[in-house]
Amino acid sequence: MGGKVWINGTIVEPEKALVNVYDHGLLYGDGVFEGIRAYAGKVFKLREHLERLLESAHSIALDVGMSRDALAKATEETVRATGKKDCYIRLVVTRGVGNLGLDPRKCSKPQVIIIVDDISLYPPEMYERGMEVVTAATVRNITNALSPRIKSLNYLNNILAKIEANRAGVPEAIMLNAAGEVCECTADNIFLVKRGVLSTPPIHSGILEGVTRNTVMDLAREAGIEVREPTVTRHDVYIADECFLTGTGAEIIPVVKADDRVIGTGTPGPITRQLRERYHALVRQG
Ligand code: PMP
Repeated sequence: MGGKVWINGTIVEPEKALVNVYDHGLLYGDGVFEGIRAYAGKVFKLREHLERLLESAHSIALDVGMSRDALAKATEETVRATGKKDCYIRLVVTRGVGNLGLDPRKCSKPQVIIIVDDISLYPPEMYERGMEVVTAATVRNITNALSPRIKSLNYLNNILAKIEANRAGVPEAIMLNAAGEVCECTADNIFLVKRGVLSTPPIHSGILEGVTRNTVMDLAREAGIEVREPTVTRHDVYIADECFLTGTGAEIIPVVKADDRVIGTGTPGPITRQLRERYHALVRQG
């Protein structure tokens, strides 16, 4: 079963889904996107993802031209067209076709694209043993320049940090803000556990407000675990009892080493395991 793409109101095979080279999404990274997942044929947290997409678009003064309901319908139709039950959905909205200048007023209309395909996952052993991360020298985008809350097509900030992770031979890198506070990883939010309390950096540290992050915070509170959003330093990461990352693709993945410091026992901890179980139960029930 192959992927399918919704483009200009029709669902086509991926190789038939073509965009104009004058699209400002390509020329300038002018646009926004979402990464969403479907489990057992049901799109998980679709409303939350579409809300974030529309907020990202609004923030860059991009009128998507489709309502949340219309986007939801198109997304669900595209998932159905693939016949896939568990899949990844990439929703992209670009400024559309313009000229070679960057003025968005020259762009005719936004281009909405919904790609549904298989999800590529971290290997299962990594969930059992935990992963290693390093701190990137690349600082997370400064909020007043380009807010990390906007999930824009400009991912170079994160890609530069990912290149640092690659060079260090680890799957992910921790990104700090300009004040040196821990923000998040290149495509995941970060959580720490210390003495039974769950902490994650606050939005104002300059992070993307992850849908998985919010879900995990709710799950933890339901389980009677105290949840805090303090500013987090690298020292907090090194001395944590447990650490894990959250994201639509990664779900909840344990981190057992950061910058060569072993975190806790060096194996995925009990709260991480408990939250993973709760998360898996939730996605299955939809
Ligand atoms: N931070 C960044 C920078 C991201 O790109 C993502 C999405 N992959 C996340 C965090 C996690 O967000 P979500 O849980 O909504 O997938």
